[in-house]
Amino acid sequence: MNVQDIFDSMDYGPAPESAAEALAWLDSHKRKFGHWIDGAWTKPAKLSDSRNPATGETLAKVSQGGQRDVENAVRAARKAQKSWGKDAKSRARILYALARLVQKQSRLFAVLESLDNGKPIRESRDIDIPLVARHFYYHAGMAQLMDDELPDREALGVAGQIIPWNFPLLMLAWKVAPALAMGNTVVLKPAEYTSLTALLFADLSREAGVPPGVLNIVTGDGATGQLIVDHPDIDKIAFTGSTTVGRKIRSATAGSGKELTLELGGKSPYIVFDDADLDSAIEGLVDAIWFNQGQVCCAGSRLLVQEGIAETFYARLRARMDKLRLGDPLDKCIDVGAVVDPVQLKTITDLVSGSAGDVYHADAPLPETGCYYPPTLITGLTPSDSLMQEEIFGPVLVGTTFRTPVEAVELANNTRYGLAATVWTENVNLALDIAPKLAAGVVWVNATNLFDAAAGFGGVRESGFGREGGWEGLFAYTKPRRALKKLEKIKAVAAPAKPETPDIDRTAKLYIGGKQARPDGGYSQAIWSPKGKLLGHAGLANRKDLRNAVEAMNAAKGWGKTTGHLRAQILYYLGENLSARSDEFARRLDDMSGKRGGKAEVDAAIDRLFTWAAWADKHDGRAKGVPIRGIALAMNEPVGKIGAFAPDDSPLLGLVSVIAPAMAMGNRIAVMASEPYPLAATDFYQVLDTSDVPAGVVNILTGSHQDLAGQMAGHLDIDAVWSFSSSDLSATIEREAAGNLKRMWVNNGRVRDWSMPDADAFLAAATAIKTIWVPYGE
Ligand code: NDP
Repeated sequence: MNVQDIFDSMDYGPAPESAAEALAWLDSHKRKFGHWIDGAWTKPAKLSDSRNPATGETLAKVSQGGQRDVENAVRAARKAQKSWGKDAKSRARILYALARLVQKQSRLFAVLESLDNGKPIRESRDIDIPLVARHFYYHAGMAQLMDDELPDREALGVAGQIIPWNFPLLMLAWKVAPALAMGNTVVLKPAEYTSLTALLFADLSREAGVPPGVLNIVTGDGATGQLIVDHPDIDKIAFTGSTTVGRKIRSATAGSGKELTLELGGKSPYIVFDDADLDSAIEGLVDAIWFNQGQVCCAGSRLLVQEGIAETFYARLRARMDKLRLGDPLDKCIDVGAVVDPVQLKTITDLVSGSAGDVYHADAPLPETGCYYPPTLITGLTPSDSLMQEEIFGPVLVGTTFRTPVEAVELANNTRYGLAATVWTENVNLALDIAPKLAAGVVWVNATNLFDAAAGFGGVRESGFGREGGWEGLFAYTKPRRALKKLEKIKAVAAPAKPETPDIDRTAKLYIGGKQARPDGGYSQAIWSPKGKLLGHAGLANRKDLRNAVEAMNAAKGWGKTTGHLRAQILYYLGENLSARSDEFARRLDDMSGKRGGKAEVDAAIDRLFTWAAWADKHDGRAKGVPIRGIALAMNEPVGKIGAFAPDDSPLLGLVSVIAPAMAMGNRIAVMASEPYPLAATDFYQVLDTSDVPAGVVNILTGSHQDLAGQMAGHLDIDAVWSFSSSDLSATIEREAAGNLKRMWVNNGRVRDWSMPDADAFLAAATAIKTIWVPYGE
């Protein structure tokens, strides 16, 4: 090629990055790795190949972690946690050193990542590794601030962390940095295909002064992951990966008391309105779906384009696709690298080859060897087509059209996932109107795939729960300092030998959709006072009553859109009306308990209603200072429909403490009243009825907690379940919840102190944080 040819074609020449340093590091380990446990390498054993997907060459051999390796790693982590958890400021220094180290070795990490994963060096060098460093810097700061800003919280203990192959070192940083910052120690399993940068990180961690046992890396496949999940001495599992495996982990950890966060798959919509800057929207789309070969959990893999511009948009998109350059990931001039492994390549190929749609492959030359798949656009699919619904996890975009903003939102939300969404429009009013309506944990306006350590990332629905990044991410690695006592089962008063019956029968019904309803099953239980008096009957709710309560919650959808001010007024009004009937409630509580604490409980319940009325318009979001020209808004959104088991103790205060925060944050709730003492809850209907609470916002059921636990947790149209019951429900609820991966908050058989509102915990449980990124400037 001569200068004239170059001017004629204006094509890029190859600009390969050298792999010498990375290969030298592998050679220094004789290309064989054991696990990194207690600050030292174990002897390599049960080896499998880690390959370069661009060439098929074996880069190194890594060990398959077995029971003993996991055991040793957990033991080392447990031993190290005591002193690691003590001094936040010295942790800050070590995290700072890790951040510096990542920067100093940034090219080594980037090259090794591209060799192992197949991603273009431009991405590993300019996106992955800088974000890794940023994550450690940010969390060095969090450790420094912990004692001042989170005085009531402490580390959970040992965290088991399992990460996928798409962003190997970045996912490690997202998991390890917050865990270590908050004083936890870690046992991390990288994905089998891509363990090498985690091992390099472990090797270098010595230079940052990470004490032995604080960071343990056990390599291996899913079976090793399962050993970590099942280990009894781990306090928390943090997982990123597929929804299928996330669901298995939810079931496997049910009832174990382990904390769990799941960062799962997505089928994120990329919405282009007809007034969008089309050139930018197309460049954004290149980033959304061809970044990292589309192997991105939040990839904008579903294009929704407004009908009037669809043909133009598709034509311009196809032209842009033809210009994408595929090739050697270490070549700085390529746009699209290799898919991670032949197995993944086959999955993508099989999914696309069976498609009924109109398939367009980019007219871009593919390298002759290696795992390459061309950038692909599929149009003409129905919204229910499996390719419109399922994660392909490859460079494949599916596209469809919409007419109106309402239709765009409907189509966007028409999946079981809810990870991310992108909106392109020059109309800021439209963008900010649409963003809150999208079922997603992250929304990008006129941009895509923006990430930062300060901004929470995570999903809703079957994309999982929990957030990584920001203050919200720390909640998942800390717990309140106070130790909670064991909760004993509270039994109903047994029928006396000589019953005393009332003059006039009093029958309490269920309260569904703003009306009293007879229990569907036609069964009731008698409620006795300790003195042998029949206080009344309460219905035994069954799954049909629950179904009706869910329908009533659906009909009350508008509650989530009301203002905090309105919700505050209604909560104050509830307090006012309860106060007007204070004596009657106090008597009822005294009758049920046979004690004289009723008046104090009613006063506390009124106070609780006032507290949540106060919070209704004060749980503000935040504007995050992210390092772009723009802001990331962290908005607190209602979780949706909550199913709850009220505490058996404190029959009124406990009920109110559960209902009021849910209402205050804009949720609807179906609550099972205290099982042994349900009559304060059934009296409470009348207070609800007279306080302008819209029908269906609060539904009260009575009966056996045990009988309804599985039904409530397994109901696919409930978004979260809370349990404060004294019955042993935690395992059942967590296991059944795996179906739609609803959010869980169970007491694991521990007592809660209802004399305090515990606002932080209830605010966190009653809301989901949505991060909306809004860049600005021309
Ligand atoms: P997985 O969910 O299987 O893997 C994620 C991590 O979990 C890996 O470290 C894996 O180990 C480990 N793992 C697998 N099974 C278990 C188990 N039973 N218990 C504990 N850990 C386990 O994703 P894959 O890598 O297999 O990819 C499959 C599909 O998942 C992709 O095609 C894509 O659709 C989706 N995916 C989604 C991601 C996301 O971020 N949303 C990320 C990666 C994949 P190992 O890989 O070593 O076997």
